[in-house]
This record gives sequence, structure tokens and C-alpha cells, in this order.
Amino acid sequence: MHEQVVSVLTRAQKKKIDSKEINTDRPTESSTARRPDQPTAVEVLKRPKDITELRFSDNYNNKCLRQSNNIVSDASYCTYVPSQSAIFLNTRSLSTQEVLVRDLEKLCKKLNINDLLIIKNKSVDKNIQSLLRSIDRYKTTSLKFLITKEVTRITDKDEIITILNDFHILPTSGHAGINRMINNIKKYYFWPGITNDVINFVKKCKSCQIQKHTNRHTKEPMTITSTASTAFERISLDIMGPLDVDNYDNKYILTLQCDLSKYVEAYPLPRKDTETVTKAFVTNFVLRYGVPKTVISDRGTEFTSSVMVETCRLLGIEKHISTAYHHETLGAIENTHKHLGAYLRIQCENNKADWSDWVPFWCFSFNTSVHSETKYTPYELVFGKMCNLPSNLSKGIDPLYNHDDYPKELKYRLQKAQADAMQNLLQSKISRKCLYDKNCNSVKYNTGDLILLKNQVGNKLDNVYEGPYKVLKDISPNVLISKKNKEILVHKNNTKLFYD
Ligand SMILES: [Zn+2]
Repeated sequence: MHEQVVSVLTRAQKKKIDSKEINTDRPTESSTARRPDQPTAVEVLKRPKDITELRFSDNYNNKCLRQSNNIVSDASYCTYVPSQSAIFLNTRSLSTQEVLVRDLEKLCKKLNINDLLIIKNKSVDKNIQSLLRSIDRYKTTSLKFLITKEVTRITDKDEIITILNDFHILPTSGHAGINRMINNIKKYYFWPGITNDVINFVKKCKSCQIQKHTNRHTKEPMTITSTASTAFERISLDIMGPLDVDNYDNKYILTLQCDLSKYVEAYPLPRKDTETVTKAFVTNFVLRYGVPKTVISDRGTEFTSSVMVETCRLLGIEKHISTAYHHETLGAIENTHKHLGAYLRIQCENNKADWSDWVPFWCFSFNTSVHSETKYTPYELVFGKMCNLPSNLSKGIDPLYNHDDYPKELKYRLQKAQADAMQNLLQSKISRKCLYDKNCNSVKYNTGDLILLKNQVGNKLDNVYEGPYKVLKDISPNVLISKKNKEILVHKNNTKLFYD
């Protein structure tokens, strides 16, 4: 008979059970006989198959049960209902606990039942405790009790919503993710379609959508930007700063970069109003290197205002604005900014007020270094010859041509170098595109969809996304949205669908 008790628990676990905290998820299987301190109750996570359930009933319940035909009852206080595979123990009877326990044991012996399942919930908690105490005290039974928490089956839709809310939004739930939420809910409740309900609920949670980084980013296939075919045909303009005001009252740097040669120019400026910027661009660049065919800039007002627009129109320059929220368009010049910033920080470590003095030196060093993309120095691609550098002055420059051939030579060198640079540039763009497109996850938005925009401000505590905003039109790889009653075009890579 003793072999029927299959669980072995430690004293500590037994103590726990005694102190009302039955908490043994996986009983250890053992066929050894039960020692006096071995418990007869273990908690299990799942209801085992083909097990008889022990339920607690009162007098009225018992009377009703006994009136039905399909019962087996060999004792006064226990009723077996085969159709329900359950034994009802009348705990409201006037008999003592000892009688109840012996009655139960007698019935189980007759039915050849060794294990009984008790489904624990608040209303039967006291009954379970007193039953276990009695069994312990009277040493009457070799029955084993498997106790499992009650999983309430929910049918009411409103109740489902309340549960979803409780298991996600309450501070203790901390906006749990889908898997954690499903596992937590299933400990207490069940309803058909619980998994889908949780998925949809989490998907639509506004806080989660705005605050959490997604693993599936929207990523549009890259468009190969057309590459300029001659130096200074296409240049990018950008403003760096504000920086610390220096000795010359400068606070900003206007940077220009040639798309083909990567040649940079940088002009320190005291202000970044459109007149200052336009004047610096014309005086320093246009009047020295000629009129570029195309100028690309971001949406900064210094570039979009009428003064700049008018100047470009006057000079016959095509003006392009890079798409807001997609800075890859100006990627090259932004990398250059990083480089310049690092250079200035190092050079101005001891004297922050003289950074303007260092800017031309940085330009010189950048333009005379081999660029990783073109494999040429920008200087070479613009001027068709290597620059005289302090380091190679001592070596002396070998004359490669006589003066008669100079124009031909120059033309040849310029053409050759620029053609090579173009080839290199295109090659690296294609290989980058292949790499990039591999991880593409293109989306198509419908007019009227709501989308979230990635927050461009780098503060770690800010929302990751802002919005939602309404989609006006999908213009892949961009999308036109309405933001604060304004129409703006954003790159899809910085967006994701908002679930309402
Ligand atoms: Zn959430």
C-alpha cells in the first residue's frame, strides 16, 4: 500500500506545505515507501489524465447528488459521481475531521483509487488545509493528493479585456511581451483563442508601439543614387553646429562635399541664416570652383528659404532636398562631419576658442588623403595631380610631362582618374546595395493608415517613436504623411505601422 505514494519531498518543502504554501512543481518520482514525514500532497502544474477529482461539497449539494442515480456511495459523507469522475466530500457535515478522512479512505479503497486531484482556489483553500492536517494527524490514509491551481475558464468578452489589461498594463505587469503574458495568464485563466487575443492586444498597445524597439524594421530596397560624372557637378551642402563661439565669433561651419571626388570645403560662419550661408557658398565656392550642376541639402531653412532658392535659380543650379527622416541621402557628408568633429575636438583640446583656424588644415588633410570609396585623394580627382605635401616635398616631385603636353596630359589624367573613381564608386554602391537589400523588409502603406515615426532626437529617455500620423500617399521608398496639418515626405525606413 505504501508503494502508492510516489512523491518524495524534503523537510523544507514539507514545512512549506504545512505553512500553507504548497509549491512543488515537479514531484520527484520514487517508489520507496512513505516515511512518516513524507507528505501526501504535491502541487502539480497540469491536471494529470484519468484522475479522480476530489471536490468539497455542502449538505445541500450532497443531497442533490445522492438523489441522482448514477452515484456510488459507500460512506455517509463521500459521494462518487462516475460521470464527473469526482468524489464529493461533504465538509459541512457535523461529523469530525477524522470520520471524514476515514470515510474518504474507505470509498477510495473500494473504488481502487490511489490519487486524487484537488483544484485549488480561494474558496476551497481552508478545506484543503484542514484535510491535509487531519490526514497528517490521524495517519489514516495512503491516498495521494495532487493539487493544482484553478484555471478559470472565461467566456465573458469584457472579462477577457479586463484580464488582458491586468496582465499587461498594470505596473506589476510592466507591458509584458507576448510570450510572458500568455504564460502568466494561463496560470489562472483560459479561453479559446487566448494566444491570438494576447498577440493582438500587445500589438495595439500604444505605449509598447511608441516605446519599444522592434526587431522587424521597415527597410525599403536602396535606390542607387545617381553618381556625378565630373568633379563639382553635384555637391552636398550641410551645416555643422552650433559649436562653442570662437575668437572670430564663429559658431557654425558650412560644409560642402563633391559627390564624385569627395573633395570637401568648410567655411566657419558666425550665423546660419540664409543670407550668411548663401553668401559664403557663392563667395567661397562658386566664385572659385564654378557653378555646380546640382546642390543637395537637408530641409534646414537656411537652404530652403527664398534667398537660397533664388540664388540657385539665378545661377542655374538644380536644388535637391534630401528626404526628411532619411539621412542616408546625405550620408557621405555626415560621415565627413564626424571626421571633422573628431579632428577639431583633438586639435582644440587646449584652446577651444581657436577652432576656426584649424578648419582649413582639416580640409587640406582630408582632400589630400586617399578616400576609402574612390581609392584616390579628392585633390587628385579635382586637380588632376598629386598635391605637394610637406612630407613629400623633400623627395621632390618627378616631372611626368613636359610643358607642351601639359594640357593633353591634364585632360587625360582628369578623365582617367574621374572615370576610375566613378567605376569604384558605382561598384561600392552596388555591393552595398546587395548587402543592404538582403535584409529588406519592404512595406506598402495604404492611404489613411496610421504610422509611427522614429524619433530622430538621440535622447535615450525620449520616446523611440512619435505619432501616430495619417498616411496620405505611399511613394516608395518614401511615404507622404500629414503631421501637424503639414504634408511631409519621410523615408519608410523610419516608420512602422500603428495598430489602432
Ligand atoms: Zn504595452
